[in-house]
Amino acid sequence: MDLRQGIGLRKLGKTAEEFQQDLLSNLYYRRGTTVESASARDAYETLSQTVRDRLAERRARTAAAHYASNPRWVYYLSAEYLLGAQLEQNLLYSGTGEIAAEAVKALGFSIEDLEDLDIEPGLGNGGLGRLAACLVDSMATRDIPAVGYGIRYDLGIFRQIITENGQTELPDDWAFQGNPWEFPAPDDRQTVGFYGHTEPVPGSQTRKVWVPGEIVLGEPSHMLVPGYGTETVNIVRLWSAKASEASFDLSRFSAGQYAEAVQEAVRAENISKVLYPDDSTELGRELRLKQQYFLVSCSLRDIIRRFRLRNEGWDGFAEKTVIQLNDTHPTIAIAELMRLLVDEYELEWDRAWEITRKTFAYTCHTLLPEALETWPVHLFERLLPRHLEIIYLINMLFLREVEARFPGDDDRLRRMSIIGEEPRMVRMAHLAVVGTEAVNGVAELHSKLLRETVLDDFAELWPAKFQNVTNGISPRRFVRIANPRLSDLITEGLGTDTWIRDLERLEGLERLADDASFRERWQAIKRANKVDLAAGDPDSLTDVMIKRFHEYKRQQLKVLHVITLYHRIRQDPGRDRVPRTVLFAGKAAPAYHAAKDIIRLIATVAATIEKDPVVSPYLKVVFPSNYNVTLAEKIIPAADLSEQISLAGKEASGTGNMKLALNGAITIGTMDGANIEIRARVGEENFFLFGLDAYEAANARINGYFPHRYYEHDPELRAALDALGSGAFGESGQRVASSLMSWDEYLTLADFRSYLDCQEQVEQAWHDRERWTRMSILNTAHCGFFSSDRTIADYAARIWRVAPVPVPHDD
Ligand SMILES: *Cc1c(COP(=O)(O)O)cnc(C)c1O
Repeated sequence: MDLRQGIGLRKLGKTAEEFQQDLLSNLYYRRGTTVESASARDAYETLSQTVRDRLAERRARTAAAHYASNPRWVYYLSAEYLLGAQLEQNLLYSGTGEIAAEAVKALGFSIEDLEDLDIEPGLGNGGLGRLAACLVDSMATRDIPAVGYGIRYDLGIFRQIITENGQTELPDDWAFQGNPWEFPAPDDRQTVGFYGHTEPVPGSQTRKVWVPGEIVLGEPSHMLVPGYGTETVNIVRLWSAKASEASFDLSRFSAGQYAEAVQEAVRAENISKVLYPDDSTELGRELRLKQQYFLVSCSLRDIIRRFRLRNEGWDGFAEKTVIQLNDTHPTIAIAELMRLLVDEYELEWDRAWEITRKTFAYTCHTLLPEALETWPVHLFERLLPRHLEIIYLINMLFLREVEARFPGDDDRLRRMSIIGEEPRMVRMAHLAVVGTEAVNGVAELHSKLLRETVLDDFAELWPAKFQNVTNGISPRRFVRIANPRLSDLITEGLGTDTWIRDLERLEGLERLADDASFRERWQAIKRANKVDLAAGDPDSLTDVMIKRFHEYKRQQLKVLHVITLYHRIRQDPGRDRVPRTVLFAGKAAPAYHAAKDIIRLIATVAATIEKDPVVSPYLKVVFPSNYNVTLAEKIIPAADLSEQISLAGKEASGTGNMKLALNGAITIGTMDGANIEIRARVGEENFFLFGLDAYEAANARINGYFPHRYYEHDPELRAALDALGSGAFGESGQRVASSLMSWDEYLTLADFRSYLDCQEQVEQAWHDRERWTRMSILNTAHCGFFSSDRTIADYAARIWRVAPVPVPHDD
């Protein structure tokens, strides 16, 4: 009996009866309850286990296939994963949706009841974390041997409540009632050091001994990541910080000092307590750097352990391993791998550096200067003294290389140094570029601007290192699961459901855009999705802006549009108009006051319009609370118009734009991020473009930007800003207006008129419903490129150079 091949396992049932038997045995033996007394939660946990068992069996076969082939592995390091709800996904990926639905009926529940209990691990802030989730999905779907590493935060992204007073934040104890999708693996625990000092090693120039001052344990657990339409099941491995047993002070406890007795343990476990709800700016907090090092230290030791299972020595390491850094958060891995190789495994510096550089690749996710991570040198010195020494040495050797290429160019050396001066800071993006083999941006424009601006010196030094890999999204989660009606129609229209794995097949819908009966059904589905969402009149134009709140994304521009519509309706109430439902959703970082003002302003505007009998028949503003993946899956299928209105040159890629276009929403957007690529594919006649481009925007200040001029010359803009300034929409509105009038960092006023004119074109197109529906179908048809399966194929071919390892079927 070959246990490694999974032979000898009792086959898990494939019929509804067999599934039901497995469900019952899980209910009795694992959950310890009975059919008569099973609560909805008992049923949910038991169903999840029964589905999970089927994936676990595939996982065992995947591990066996990987072990046998000893392949090159991809390790994806990310401080964030926004995985979304698990049950529906795992039902789909295990092909058990129908038999499970039947089986749970026997327990007296419906699948829908149980889906309402499903957890959403909110281990990320927004786009970056959701990208990580889409990429691990697609790695499994493409049979790429991969592990995603992350942190198992006890508290995920805060739960948001929207009231007329704006945003309130509540803690998100996402696994409070347990997480049935997760396997703890305490045997793979790691030990992580912090603080302390370093000591020289006699006879060695480069080796040191680091004596940490604090030791914390990292305990992993993993969640299964199944591929769709394939046998592969990969994992995401998440680390929890645990205090060592010795940290409990029994003598203090005995003396009644209860708080003091657990003080050290609490401090250790705080490392994985909470996800930083901050999207782009750095808090400069020690705990955040601790989190980053904790993730990196645990993951690298685990990667080395896994390498050692099948390989000896270090010669093959870079050949068998590629570690992708998702933004700069895990960049300290470069110094940590050097430390492990030099100090612990006693490799020569040059050899260690060659291995390190070949092992890592870095994805940059921003263009905002304030989002480029830097850490004070003094903090590094205290928290990670050995790593700072290593970074100094890396930097010295690197600057020598620059000096050799550009002799005497001191200014260049200063610009490129990993250490910034006054104040002295460690520049993580520079370390990430220096210590990796490939650097990529996440959309064509973004990669180009990285080369031309943010990282221009590095691109000049190493042009071949810089690449573009345009982001993508999972068609399973964001079309098949989110929009079952549209998925069925697409499958019917194409005569096959292979598009779910091969999204470019959506091109086949192009000819159906000319078919009146297909258009009618397409339109009816959009309407039915709007009825389900129940956000407003399903016959109104559903205009959605769903994303994190940030001034560069320009929700404030959308608000100025809404206020202008409000004024127009009040001034000419008799005119025939396009009724609109404007839907905002998104969170603001709790300390980002300007963004929270915009949220509160929207809530005030919504309430004002609601109360106005003249305006409310034509215009409604809704702001559902707590934007997350689950809510995104509800809103996106119901959207007619997708607002992607960031100032050009600021949004790296965007992925919300892709989700919406694939679900047949038409974009109104600027020439920013992946909007440009969406427009190029769907055709300019099927995209509403407005605003400055990135070069015009970059030049605007240089040529003298005075927001007041726009205020003076545009009566409608003036009316909107005057209304805000008057306090008619509260103090938040006054602050928003004053910020726009005085500086307007993101050129909102410069793009206002162009945006409003473009919205008029939107309304004209909407009047001709046949034309609109055609545009909608063509958006879906031409956006197959934006599948994360294609993104992964790009990474695999151009950056990782990995081959798929197919997992044999079980029969
Ligand atoms: C896709 C997604 C995002 C990213 O949206 P952008 O419009 O690209 O900023 C953020 N949050 C959630 C929950 C998402 O699903």
